[in-house]
Amino acid sequence: MAKISAMDIYKLLPKTNCKKCGEASCMAFATKLQNKKAMVEECPIMNASKFDAKKKELIELLSPPVKEVWFGYDNKKHRAIMGGDEVMYRYELTYYNPTPFGIDISDNLSDEEIKERAKYIENFVFERTGERLTLDFIALRNASNDPEKFKNALKIIQENTKMPITLCSINPKSVEEALKIINSKPLIYTATEDNFEKMLNVLLKHKKETNKEFALVLSSKQVKTLRGMVKECLNHGIDDLVLEPHTHPENISETLDKFIAMRRSAIEKEDKLLGFPLLGLPINTYFYTLNNNSISQFIEEPDKAAGIMEARTASTMLIRYADAIILHGCEIWELMPVLTLRQALYTDPRKPQAVDADVYPIGNPDADSPVIMTTNFSLTYYTVTGDFEKDGVKCWLIVLDTEGKAVDVAVAGGQYNGENAKNLIAEKGLADKVNHNAIILPGLAAPARGDIEEKTGWNCVVGTRDSSQVGDFLKKNWESILEKNRKK
Ligand code: SF4
Repeated sequence: MAKISAMDIYKLLPKTNCKKCGEASCMAFATKLQNKKAMVEECPIMNASKFDAKKKELIELLSPPVKEVWFGYDNKKHRAIMGGDEVMYRYELTYYNPTPFGIDISDNLSDEEIKERAKYIENFVFERTGERLTLDFIALRNASNDPEKFKNALKIIQENTKMPITLCSINPKSVEEALKIINSKPLIYTATEDNFEKMLNVLLKHKKETNKEFALVLSSKQVKTLRGMVKECLNHGIDDLVLEPHTHPENISETLDKFIAMRRSAIEKEDKLLGFPLLGLPINTYFYTLNNNSISQFIEEPDKAAGIMEARTASTMLIRYADAIILHGCEIWELMPVLTLRQALYTDPRKPQAVDADVYPIGNPDADSPVIMTTNFSLTYYTVTGDFEKDGVKCWLIVLDTEGKAVDVAVAGGQYNGENAKNLIAEKGLADKVNHNAIILPGLAAPARGDIEEKTGWNCVVGTRDSSQVGDFLKKNWESILEKNRKK
C-alpha cells in the first residue's frame, strides 16, 4: 500500500483543475506525482509565491525516506540512479530505480586492456522477456595508488565510452587529479574515518572552484561513525551521499544484518542520517575467494569459484538492500542470474508484465500452419516463442489478453475464455489467414476447451503442457489435425 495517498497530495495542490500541467484535473496530477511519473514543478500554478509554503510541504511529503542519488551524464540515458525507495518490502508498493551494477577496471591494466574492458562493459547486453538487461557503470579502481595512472585510465575510459564512472580511491590526491579531467558527475568511492578530512578538503575545493556536482560514498564498519560522517558532510553542503557499511566476504550475514538495520532505521524510524542509498561490494567476495576457495571440492578453478561466490553475494545483497553494486567478474554465466534477479525484483507487483494481445505470425507461417493459443503474460509469451524458435515451429500464435496472467491462472480466473478468443480472432481476421478451423490449446487450458469451441466455432485440440514439447507434438499430429479440420 502506498504510504502517501493521492488525496494527501491533492490537498496541497491549487485545486483549480486548469489543465496547465497536461492533466485533466488536479487529482489526476496528484496520482501522477504519487506514482513518481511527474514532478511538482510541472504544475506552473504552484510556482506563484502564494503557494511557496504548500510547495515546500509537498516536496517534503514526496521525498522518499531513502534519498535518490544519481551519477553520470546530464543525458538520462547515461545515468546510474540509486535509492528513492519508500518501503521495506516490495509488495507494500514497489521498488524504484533498479540497483545499478558496476564492473571494476584496475588502473594497473595496460591502455589497451582498459579500453577493451570498458567497451565490453558498455556493450554487455542480454535480452530477457523483451527487455535488454545491461550493466550500468564503470568502477575505476586506483589499484596502483598512483594519481597519474588513475587519471590516464580515466582519460581512456572517457574517450571510449559514455558510461557513468565511480572513482575508487582512498588517496585524496588521486581523486583530486581525476576530478580535474572528469566530464560527468562521478560517484567518489570513498571517504573513510582515516582519510575523511583530507578527502573532504579536496572535494570542497573542487566544489568551490568548479561548482561541479559529485556524489560521495562514506565507508565505515560502524553505523555510528557513518552517521557522524553524514552529519559533517551535510554541514558542508555535500548531500549526494551513499553509505558503505563494509561488505565482509567471510561473513555475509553480518553484512546483511547491517544493511537491513540501516534500511529499517531510514524507512521505519525516519533516521535522516541513514536515509541514503547503500553500496554493496560483492567484488570483495571475488578477491577473497581467489585465495580462500570454500567450494574447491565442486569448482577447482579459483577464478570460476570466485565468480560464483561473487554472484551469490551480489544476489543476496540485491535482495537486502544494496542500491548499487560493484562486481569484478563479468562473464555472462555470472551476470545472467544477478541481472535476471534484478529484473524480477524491480518489476512493479501492481502491474503484471504483459505483451500486447494479438495474433502473431511465428516463423513465417502460411495458410496450412497451425493456430496455437496462449496468454499475454510476458514470461509465458517469451518462453513459448523462444521454444518455438528453437524447434523451428511455424504457426499463428493467438496471444489472448488475460491481464498478464499465465495459462493455468487465467483459466481459473476466467480470462482465458471463449468470448475473449472469439473477439480477438474476429478482430485480427484469423479465419481469412488459414485453411482450417483448428486451435491447439496448451495442456493446462483443457478445462476451457468447451467454452472456446462453443463461442468461437473453431475445433480445439488439447496439446502439451509445456511449450518445449510443441515441436514434437506438431511433427506427430499436425498433418492429421489439419486434414480433419480443413475448410471445405
Ligand atoms: S496545473 Fe496545477 S492547478 Fe492546474 S490542473 Fe494541473 S495540478 Fe491542478
